[in-house]
Amino acid sequence: MAVLADWIRGGIPAETATLVTPYPTLRYSGMVPGWISGQYSRDDGLVDLAALAKRAGVKLVLDRCDGLDLDQHSVRTASGAEITFDICSIDTGGVGRASHILGDDPRIIDVRPIDRFVDQIEGMDAAKHIAVVGGGAGGVELAFGLRNRGDGALTMVTLITGKEGLLPRFGNSVRRRVSAELSRQGITAVEADAEIRGKVLSAGAAALPDIDLIVAAMGSGAPQWPEESGLACDPNGFIAVDQYQRSISHPYVFAVGDVASRQDRHVPHSGVHAVFAGPILADNLRAAAAGLPPTKSYVPRIANLYLISTGRGEAIASFGAFSAQGQWAAKLKHWIDTRWLTQYARLSGAK
Ligand SMILES: Cc1cc2nc3c(=O)[nH]c(=O)nc-3n(C[C@H](O)[C@H](O)[C@H](O)COP(=O)(O)OP(=O)(O)OC[C@H]3O[C@@H](n4cnc5c(N)ncnc54)[C@H](O)[C@@H]3O)c2cc1C
Repeated sequence: MAVLADWIRGGIPAETATLVTPYPTLRYSGMVPGWISGQYSRDDGLVDLAALAKRAGVKLVLDRCDGLDLDQHSVRTASGAEITFDICSIDTGGVGRASHILGDDPRIIDVRPIDRFVDQIEGMDAAKHIAVVGGGAGGVELAFGLRNRGDGALTMVTLITGKEGLLPRFGNSVRRRVSAELSRQGITAVEADAEIRGKVLSAGAAALPDIDLIVAAMGSGAPQWPEESGLACDPNGFIAVDQYQRSISHPYVFAVGDVASRQDRHVPHSGVHAVFAGPILADNLRAAAAGLPPTKSYVPRIANLYLISTGRGEAIASFGAFSAQGQWAAKLKHWIDTRWLTQYARLSGAK
């Protein structure tokens, strides 16, 4: 989106440009827990990609990238189209890992892709006991959101964090706060890996026979097609990029966000980093289109602000070792999120 924004402001740096996206909108996943808890409506948090593409003068193809022919410089789509390019930029996000880790079970709903998750969770009002699998920020927010579902359903929620425990990439102080809030809301947290044995979900010594819905929030997995296409990937299958977000094997391919893996330094997969790296990518694409070497590199800050919504009008703020909780943090989260969305709504001509 930052690239589209750059092209709306400064013009497309090439003769033509094509956006391949399965949906005409992008759903901001950070607002999905708030939609579940009734804070937002279903359409809050949608960015109109079709309108942004139109404004930028970019051709829109509603399809899914399914592979690359790197010799022919073309993208193969799910419907079988071939789209040729001089430069390709990939920001397709991560894929769900539930079936890989938990196997196939009709009760599982993966949070990725997020649009399918929203469709699926909408029809699940009857679920009385939900297990959320994944103890990262996404899993925690979903556990709070589901406990406080907007439909007023009295939902029991168990959070199975995985054996790394609750919020493994956060400081002790925020972990303690989240843990206390989970207890306050009657959400049981089990710090073990989830497993499905003979149709029964279990985690460590705990068996959870009465679970009727399993929400899998176990982080981003890599799609298979980048590696199958011959792009250099990290050991987990994410596109290996240098400090310029450029493929280390094919310099005319760029990648950013959860699908990419920086090789020069560790950049975790998270929305914060995907968003901040966007303008850097836009600059480097402009340089590459002009035949110049890229120069900009995204350097993550020492600490980033994360705001975890509790589903009850408060949020827990985390910044490095510091944490705090209150309604003010929820208001700040709402302000940051809506400001980010409003800039794209304005650029698309909607506001
Ligand atoms: C419930 C939840 C809450 C979260 N909250 C936060 C938060 O508060 N803060 C934070 O930093 N992170 C948060 N995250 C993580 C964050 O959502 C991701 O890290 C972030 O969305 C990654 O951005 P991205 O641009 O890489 O991918 P995405 O935002 O997933 O965007 C990928 C885009 O590519 C499209 N696409 C997918 N496959 C293809 C294909 N094959 N061809 C073409 N297009 C394709 C998709 O339709 C989508 O438009 C949350 C995640 C979840 C699940």
